[in-house]
Amino acid sequence: MTITPSHIIQYLYCPRFTFFEYVLAIPQYEEKNYKVIRGRDLHNEKLEQNKQYLRKKIGVKEKHLDQYLTNGLLRGKVDEVLLLEDGTMSPLDYKFAEYKDKIYDTYKTQLYCYAWLIEENFGKKVKKGFIVYTRSKHKLIEVEVTESDLDKIKKCALEIQLIIDNNFFPKATKYKKRCLDCTYKNICIK
Ligand code: SF4
Repeated sequence: MTITPSHIIQYLYCPRFTFFEYVLAIPQYEEKNYKVIRGRDLHNEKLEQNKQYLRKKIGVKEKHLDQYLTNGLLRGKVDEVLLLEDGTMSPLDYKFAEYKDKIYDTYKTQLYCYAWLIEENFGKKVKKGFIVYTRSKHKLIEVEVTESDLDKIKKCALEIQLIIDNNFFPKATKYKKRCLDCTYKNICIK
């Protein structure tokens, strides 16, 4: 089984989510515990103009749209893979969302996952990624991507694989508040 950015996001919320959902196959009925807000596909002329403008602002030399990428362990679909003037590459993700002065950790995690996929598939370094908030007049936010961000994502992917392949029961999240409205709270030993 290949892992998706959603698995990584769930794992980071609580490693036991992975166990309950993918080892015991108990579905979670509530999505509110972790937020993966997908960008909605909006195809119109205005949007295309905005996209061109943003790529120019970033200094894009080459673009690859809607890339389904995998590295054997992780898979994901990146809205845009951009080659920048300094020879590095960047993922760009459109969010059908408003920018509220804070970048959700889930958004950052998605970008780190894409960065790892891009580095392995295109053989280029990724130092930053971009998020476009389509409901805030296409506000463009740059997110730094460091080696330690990538190491963290790689470590998570390996741990998820260990849980799923070896039925390994992982430790609980250290943030006990998360257990309060967790969908698995009645079956989980805390
Ligand atoms: S109850 Fe707490 S420890 Fe158990 S799965 Fe939910 S968040 Fe994780």
